[in-house]
Amino acid sequence: MPLPDYHIHTARCGHATGSMKEYVEHALARGLKEIGFADHIPMYWLDENRRDPELAMPDAELPRYVEEVEKLRSSYRGINIRLGIEADYIPGCEEQLQRIIQRYPFDYVLGSIHYVNGWGFDNPAYIHRYKETDLDQLYRDYFLLLQQAAQSRLFDIMAHPDLVKKFGFRPRGDLRRLYLETAKAVARAGVCLEVNTAGLRTPAGEIYPAPDFLHICKKFAVPVTTGSDAHKPDQVGFGFDRATEMLTGAGYDKVTHIKARQTTQIFF
Ligand code: ZN
Ligand code: FE
Ligand code: FE
Ligand code: ZN
Repeated sequence: MPLPDYHIHTARCGHATGSMKEYVEHALARGLKEIGFADHIPMYWLDENRRDPELAMPDAELPRYVEEVEKLRSSYRGINIRLGIEADYIPGCEEQLQRIIQRYPFDYVLGSIHYVNGWGFDNPAYIHRYKETDLDQLYRDYFLLLQQAAQSRLFDIMAHPDLVKKFGFRPRGDLRRLYLETAKAVARAGVCLEVNTAGLRTPAGEIYPAPDFLHICKKFAVPVTTGSDAHKPDQVGFGFDRATEMLTGAGYDKVTHIKARQTTQIFF
C-alpha cells in the first residue's frame, strides 16, 4: 500500500497555489491511494481584524473548504480523499479550537506548533529573531508546547514534530532528552506523529522528525502518519521514497490510516 499523503494545503490559505482538483490529479498520477487535505484553520485565537489572509483561510471559507472536499470525494472513486485540517495549538485557546473542530466532520486534525511565545518562528518574515534567541531555550519551549498539545486531546496527529529546526538553527546541547520526553508524552496521549517531508525543502534539509527522534518514537510504539505539506500540486507525495527509507530504518513497517478520527495500522 503506498503511503497516504495526509498533509495537503489549498489556495484558500493564501500562500498555496493550485485548485483542489489539481492536487487530487497529481496524487493519482503519483499512484497514491489515499490523501487528505489539511489546510490551515482560521486564526481562531486572534480578533478577525488581526488575522493575516496570507497565513490561513478566513472563517467564511471553512464551510466551502469542507464542501469542496466532500464533492471531490464523490467525483473520484480511485482514491480515498480524507477531510483534515491543520490547527495551531495555542495554550489557553483550547475551547475556541474545540468549538470549530466539533462543527465539521473532520477525519483528522493535525496539531501544529508555529508559535513560541507569540513568535511565528517558522515564518521567514521573522527570521531575524533567531539572532537574539537562546536556541537551547527555544527548543525546550518548542518541545514542551508539543507535549502539551499532544496531551490536550484536541489532535489526532502532531504535525512536523521538530519544525523548530526549519531554518537550520540548532542548539548546542543534545536533543535526545527532549526527544525522549516528547515521545513518552505523545505515546501516553495516544496520538500519532507525522513524518513530514517538507523539511527536505527547507534549510534544515531533513524530514521532520529527525531520524534519532523517530527511532525513539518507535521504541515507545508511537503510531505515525505521512504527509508532504504540499503547498503546490506537484508537491503531493514529495519525498515519499525518502520517508519510506527513514521509516524502515527506524523499524516501522506500518503507517496509520485515519477515517472519522478512527485509526488503522496498515503495512506500507
Ligand atoms: Zn502553509
Ligand atoms: Fe504547519
Ligand atoms: Fe502545513
Ligand atoms: Zn504544516
